[in-house]
Amino acid sequence: MASIAQVEPLTSARALRGPFDYALPEEMRDSVGVGSMLVVPFGRRELLGVVVGLTEASAVADERLLAPRRAVEADVPVDLVELAGWIALEYCSTPARALSLVLPPGASSGVHGLARLVAELTAAGREAPSAGVRLTAVQRAVLERLPAVGATPVAATGAAHATLRRLEARGLLRLSHRALARAPVHVAVGARRNGPVTLNHDQRRALESLDAAIAARRFEQLLLHGVTGSGKTEVYLRAAEATLAQGRGVIVLVPEIGLTPQTVGRFVERFGDTVAVAHSRLGAGERYDEWMRLRRGEARICVGPRSAVFAPIEDLGLIVIDEEHDPSYKHQGDPRYDARHVAARRAEQAGAVLLAGSATPRPESFARLQRLALPARADGGELPAVEVLDMCGVRGALHERTAAALGELCRAGGKAIVLLNRRGWSNFLSCRSCAKVWGCPDCDVALVLHRSEGVISCHHCGHRERVPACCDACGSGSVARHGLGTERLEHELVAALGGDDYPIFRLDADVAAARGRATAVLARFDRAAAGVLIGTQMVAKGHDFDGVGLGVVLDADATLRFPDFRAEERTFALVAQLAGRAGRGGSSGRVLVQTLAPTARSIIAAARHDSSGFLEGELRRREALRYPPYGELVRIVCSSLREELALQAARELRERLTLPGAQILGPAPLFRLRGRERAQIVIKAADRGAAVAAVTAALAQPLHREASVSVDVDPQ
Ligand code: ADP
Ligand code: ZN
Ligand code: ZN
Repeated sequence: MASIAQVEPLTSARALRGPFDYALPEEMRDSVGVGSMLVVPFGRRELLGVVVGLTEASAVADERLLAPRRAVEADVPVDLVELAGWIALEYCSTPARALSLVLPPGASSGVHGLARLVAELTAAGREAPSAGVRLTAVQRAVLERLPAVGATPVAATGAAHATLRRLEARGLLRLSHRALARAPVHVAVGARRNGPVTLNHDQRRALESLDAAIAARRFEQLLLHGVTGSGKTEVYLRAAEATLAQGRGVIVLVPEIGLTPQTVGRFVERFGDTVAVAHSRLGAGERYDEWMRLRRGEARICVGPRSAVFAPIEDLGLIVIDEEHDPSYKHQGDPRYDARHVAARRAEQAGAVLLAGSATPRPESFARLQRLALPARADGGELPAVEVLDMCGVRGALHERTAAALGELCRAGGKAIVLLNRRGWSNFLSCRSCAKVWGCPDCDVALVLHRSEGVISCHHCGHRERVPACCDACGSGSVARHGLGTERLEHELVAALGGDDYPIFRLDADVAAARGRATAVLARFDRAAAGVLIGTQMVAKGHDFDGVGLGVVLDADATLRFPDFRAEERTFALVAQLAGRAGRGGSSGRVLVQTLAPTARSIIAAARHDSSGFLEGELRRREALRYPPYGELVRIVCSSLREELALQAARELRERLTLPGAQILGPAPLFRLRGRERAQIVIKAADRGAAVAAVTAALAQPLHREASVSVDVDPQ
């Protein structure tokens, strides 16, 4: 039995370099292992920590070694402790921050959420003491002390957690959360086909390759490149079935649960209670319940967003990444991990199959993964015809052909989806006499008008102020509104088309801010016989609605105007995905794309549904420019309240970076955000590991006290 635990205290301080040694008292040695959570004395405080290693000898003198205060009931699986260690290095973060990703829900915010665990005897447990079952004295005492029926809070059993766990493993008692383990409620959205589907030829071929990979029980990465509506979900379901049949577990990553209720619903429908749903909008208790169901092996499939990649599933056999192009897979806080990259690591660790799926895969995945193609729609329908409309010289929001098509559809009682990737009423306000533009006091960006709330707000930091009645600079009462967002578009379409029998639904971040609202809007549009759904990129996720006759993209080149090498890829995906919502379920569809850049490669390719052509061109361009997957990028942002300090820190970092053969760009100033001035450095290197090591080395010495640094490996 090891006598010393190496503990990583969970603190966000960057300077702290753990792990730290603690002497385990005799009674803890049995039960504490890698992944155990301990409350440890740390300076004058007590901190929660995770055991990352065990040893017999410490460099710290015996008499100076402290003992943990106590053990916490929950623990982290060993493979996830290892995964966290890898993430900390891979993303230039700290072990504590990476570990916080893999803890049971609620654990880092305080141990109280875990105290409601209850123990309950099973039938076998009730009989065990008198039935001659072999028990230690301690085990016997626990079983005899527990009431024959009903649950006892674990804290009141007087037994060590490890003792209870061992009894649980033998089927003598059950540990559960006191709140009834509720299966989260699913709202049914989207097309429902009756009877079991028979796989078509392409699906069968894809599944054959998958089955072989699953049967081989080793790490393999595959890309299911299937056009919109080609029946990718059915392939995921069958692959999950094959994996479960092997006794192994499954993780299914989806972009956002509220926006992809269909995929979740299909898994729950097919596998019932075997599915646990990880949902950021579940209450803390519910999330903990679902985590524990997985931890105990009661549930073997976890469906959830990015963080579900950390689901505590033992003997993992398959990770599915649905809509693998979706930007939500990249985490924006520290560590800035990419769930797709972490999923690959986890699959490798577990000897599992990674299956990424999309109609518009990322160039990286297209180049690197073994491809399985679903080239046609599952229902035998055609992909909708796409028409590109040149908006040069057009006044107003809608091209005349768009207006005509919407009018026609409204008269015929059909359904349409309109995408405008900009929320609010107007993009910015300006004074007609002195040209003042209302900007955010904390960020160098314009404030966006939200008319129904009577505010102008910053989409970067959330700053809000009342809509100005007049200009505070010159006193003029003439304030002009520029641009068009979803709120105003909704207003205009209601005026032009709306009525009791022709509802207009809006879906954007403002609407979706309320819990469950996004799903409710999708469900209402799905059930409506006719109507228009307008919204931001949220309307272009993988929804499967029958009978959408028209899809419209407004300002399709908006994403092209971002100074980012992924601008083309984003634009292509957005247009192709929206087009993919139209013409499903036996009806024919038509798509109109309004743009100021009608000749842009990404827009033309999307109009032709030519994703392979687009991707091949994109890969050639990236190879020439040494962008991913032909080079690796690391972005470092230095920030400070004082402009010169941000720049100075970035310059200093740049000098410290030694990375032969790499290209180091910057420092370049970035716009002010949340009151902080920023400067960035971008490293373009051939090898990610070397670049990360160089950055880690450069950050080993602290920079100016008033400057902070954030590192983004493989920025998205
Ligand atoms: P994707 O995710 O590829 O866009 P979906 O998985 O949503 O497509 O499937 C589109 C529709 O086709 C769904 O309604 C699904 O039930 C149906 N479908 C899937 N496979 C088949 C099949 N083999 N035969 C008939 N319909 C199918
Ligand atoms: Zn003015
Ligand atoms: Zn702001």
